[in-house]
Amino acid sequence: MPVAPRLAALLLALPLFALPAAADSGAGNPWSRVGEPLAGPPRIFGGAAHGCIAGAEELPPDGPGYEVIRLSRHRNFGHPDLVAFIGRLGRRAQAAGLPVFYVGDMAQPRGGPLPFGHASHQTGIDVDIWFNLAPKPYLPPAQRETVDLPSMLLANYHQIDPARFGAKQIELLKLAATDPGVERIFVNAVIKAALCRSMIGSAPAERAWLERVRPWYGHDEHFHVRLLCPAGSPGCEEQRPVPAGDGCGAELAAWLRHLPPPPPEHSPARHPVLPAACRAVLGAR
Ligand SMILES: [Zn+2]
Repeated sequence: MPVAPRLAALLLALPLFALPAAADSGAGNPWSRVGEPLAGPPRIFGGAAHGCIAGAEELPPDGPGYEVIRLSRHRNFGHPDLVAFIGRLGRRAQAAGLPVFYVGDMAQPRGGPLPFGHASHQTGIDVDIWFNLAPKPYLPPAQRETVDLPSMLLANYHQIDPARFGAKQIELLKLAATDPGVERIFVNAVIKAALCRSMIGSAPAERAWLERVRPWYGHDEHFHVRLLCPAGSPGCEEQRPVPAGDGCGAELAAWLRHLPPPPPEHSPARHPVLPAACRAVLGAR
């Protein structure tokens, strides 16, 4: 997600090919028009903001503890490790007595750039999970296009909304961050600060999960989970490891001093340059 640190790795990762910029017309791009994953063993090529996946799996719209929303986007695909992670998180959340959580965008059937909504989510190891943990009536999948996805912040965007964000959200984040497959989680800096406050006085081992939860723009109505590169995908590019420590100190203070306004929506990269292997992934039948 942080784009600048990726640049060096990207320049080294030749050969590459550039995808034509996605049209803004809503017509999609070649990746969004592919209906099915490429069959075969799961393999990831490239990084979260310039990559693709072969052998992706579809996440079922319903499972213990979770419901997938906005299925019309056709983004409920990912590496089998991601499908397994969401299943695990759902079961652990249910066992902890949490209400059902909504699962949002994962990746397209073969990954690749999304024509709208995100720069990342291209390799099938990213997923958005919504903070709305209010008890909800069950909705059939087709009726989950416009569900309530409120911000956890007050309108001033500088403070937590205590009516919406509390122990349940913290528990779900902790369950996600302590999963061994998770590389990092992005949340709004105000939410990260609330997590830090909630763990004041706890032993270092108990607060170790905070290290994986990183402040980022937006992410006040959902959190974004990124898994570690799975085994069997040598072409999967990792980000630089998260800095050591709980992240509750100087870095967070800097974010809070310069709180950016909420972006209208994450912007997709205009000209992502993908590994050459992705051309075959896109074109194969
Ligand atoms: Zn996301």
